Amino acid sequence: MLNIVIFGAPGSGKGTQSELLIKRYGLKHVSTGDLLRFEIKEGTELGKIADHYISKGQLVPDDIMIEILEDLIKKNLDKKGFIFDGFPRTLPQGEALNNKLKKNGLDITAVLSLEVNDEALIDRLLKRGQISGRSDDNDDTIKSRLHVYHQQTEPLKEYYAKQNKLVYIPGEGTIDEVFNSIEKAINNLTNG
Ligand code: AMP
Repeated sequence: MLNIVIFGAPGSGKGTQSELLIKRYGLKHVSTGDLLRFEIKEGTELGKIADHYISKGQLVPDDIMIEILEDLIKKNLDKKGFIFDGFPRTLPQGEALNNKLKKNGLDITAVLSLEVNDEALIDRLLKRGQISGRSDDNDDTIKSRLHVYHQQTEPLKEYYAKQNKLVYIPGEGTIDEVFNSIEKAINNLTNG
């Protein structure tokens, strides 16, 4: 199985690149953000809890997210592999992902970190907000999400670097340029 974590700040292009990766490699897309937005739209209990955090630009608590993740893995073990988009976002989530995969005889192939500077991220997210209608793509929430990313999520880079899984991908080019870098990185990992 090819199990990819697509990593990066909000607005770094994780969703866009995930779509291309799915087409190219036939992986199961695990987007915790999409899943939570669906729950909010449906007005479920989980959706109500998630909305409370998402609208403030904060993370949904680890215990909730880990349960969701474990369930998603369990249900999709017949797939060619996973692309984890927006998970993990904290060290406990990273550890939970490693453990759950290991229990099923699986492992993360690579963590692709899309590198985009904060100024470009803010610019992209504000533009996305004008068309996406996402409640969290507004000025205040964007600042909070970037702060949360640097404080709670970015330390995962060191965690994965120690496991020799981290690959830096320059994320400021065009969609195709970024995808080319990703394909090269995956080819290196799977052929070399
Ligand atoms: P995303 O679409 O991945 O940017 O996620 C949107 C929002 O959903 C985030 O800002 C968080 O509030 C919440 N969220 C998504 N994935 C996670 C996660 N793995 N852990 C905690 N909160 C999450």
